[in-house]
Amino acid sequence: MRAVEADVLILGAGIAGLATALRLARDRTRQIVILTREADPKESNTYYAQGGIATLGVEDSPELFAADILRAGAGLSDPQAVRVLVEEGPALVQRVLVEEAGVAFDRTADGAFHLVREGGHSRARVLRVGDRTGAAIVQALHDLLRSFPNVQVVSAATAVELITSPGPPPLCHGAYVLEQRTGEVRPYLAGVTVLATGGLGRLFQHTTNPPGARGDGLALAHRAGAKVLHCEYVQFHPTTLALPQGENFLISEAVRGEGGRLLTPDGRFFMEAYAPGWGDLAPRDVVSRAIFQEMRTHGYPYVLLDVAKVPHFPTRFPTIFRRLRELGLSVPEEPIPVVPAAHYFCGGVWTDVWGRTTLERLFAVGEVACTGVHGANRLASTALLEGLVFGDRAGQKIAELRVAPLPPRAVPPWEAPSGPDPDPARIQRLWQTLRTTMWEEVGIVRDAQGLARALRILRELEAEVEELCRRARLTDALAGLRAGVRAALLVAEAAWRNPESRGVHFRRDGRP
Ligand SMILES: Cc1cc2nc3c(=O)[nH]c(=O)nc-3n(C[C@H](O)[C@H](O)[C@H](O)COP(=O)(O)OP(=O)(O)OC[C@H]3O[C@@H](n4cnc5c(N)ncnc54)[C@H](O)[C@@H]3O)c2cc1C
Repeated sequence: MRAVEADVLILGAGIAGLATALRLARDRTRQIVILTREADPKESNTYYAQGGIATLGVEDSPELFAADILRAGAGLSDPQAVRVLVEEGPALVQRVLVEEAGVAFDRTADGAFHLVREGGHSRARVLRVGDRTGAAIVQALHDLLRSFPNVQVVSAATAVELITSPGPPPLCHGAYVLEQRTGEVRPYLAGVTVLATGGLGRLFQHTTNPPGARGDGLALAHRAGAKVLHCEYVQFHPTTLALPQGENFLISEAVRGEGGRLLTPDGRFFMEAYAPGWGDLAPRDVVSRAIFQEMRTHGYPYVLLDVAKVPHFPTRFPTIFRRLRELGLSVPEEPIPVVPAAHYFCGGVWTDVWGRTTLERLFAVGEVACTGVHGANRLASTALLEGLVFGDRAGQKIAELRVAPLPPRAVPPWEAPSGPDPDPARIQRLWQTLRTTMWEEVGIVRDAQGLARALRILRELEAEVEELCRRARLTDALAGLRAGVRAALLVAEAAWRNPESRGVHFRRDGRP
């Protein structure tokens, strides 16, 4: 099958991939191809970011911002990467998002930006577009990139393997890509390849992430031999809606800030017992663990959030109110069923502060990358900023390289089994095993015994999936499952190896 050639191949069109593309597109000399796994190129974690993007507030400074990030990171953040973020981020938000892309962040009556203070931030410094900041950013960046004829977006195209040569040094030459509309796997060759594939929340039974967040990029990079780091650090959000029709819907932590209280389905308020003095206002990780513990000990499928005493609930939380009423819940009189959910992946493919990985000509940006900014826990509203800053930096560094794609004949063809399509019910069943195993044993509270059990199950799953890949035709669902199992193993192995509780990694049998 004929190869597609590009100067730069970007896998992913969330904020990070789009920021890299924009930086490279401007001088119009390079051919850039952006792939998205989804048919709608806007569909991504970025699209669902409700909160906002951090910048600098009034009476604020890069030093204060950095101190907040370092505190959240619990001693594991890389101070150099943090410095880059806080020094370059605010100017990029202004230049790229406000001036070039025209993102209409909320303003006050006198025309100044409306800056919000979020948990863990010592200043009001978060910019928002209502509660749809991510959607506004991704739409504006796609619109802007459409004006560059040297940028092509190919949707419904899943990268299934990186194309590498062993070196030394080992080099990346692009990716084998499953074009979902035809079912063909075609080599996409490029001088430089950029992983911008986002996170892995879908590995867990409960998550805030959309279906595409299944760890594809982490698995691709690891299979190609790139270094990965801090995979045990998965951040959980304490309260997402536990109704099947409302899956993934976040119930903002501000609801507890305004008086919402957690109770068990049989009516027991429990937070005070877990966090004396703090109660329902305890930090995010403590609340997630308490809910998980109650669910596990008593077999509850969820706990409840009582909002009856939240003043002016319908006007204070209009989106949540509307959505819950649509789903038939009589809030604020009726309590909201909630569960904690996997939210953000702090680890990933190791990169330096220019997005370079340990493989030559392979870069990684955004949630799939581990720049070191987030350490053992992420400060709210810094993920979009990290994607913007390190996406832009990767673009700068790639622009300095003068490399051409390999000639297509040097690339071995994709060896595809000509078997039948994999049985969707079987794929669904394997995913179910993976997601419940990750939730039960590699989730919010971990111990060596549970992690060892998870590793055994996941290794068996991987063997079964690899066998399936040898016999069945490759589909996006099968490729995703293959990536998901590898990514899950990386998280479980890192969690098993590390007995120290720190940030979002909690080992009940380990060192505090
Ligand atoms: C509900 C929710 C709320 C959030 N709120 C905030 C917030 O308020 N502030 C904040 O800073 N962060 C927030 N986050 C986190 C933030 O949205 C993400 O970390 C960030 O958007 C990730 O951007 P990204 O560009 O790395 O990846 P994504 O935006 O996830 O994009 C990934 C891209 O990769 C593509 N892709 C994946 N696999 C493949 C493959 N195999 N082949 C080809 N393409 C592939 C996808 O199609 C997609 O285009 C939130 C996340 C969620 C889920």
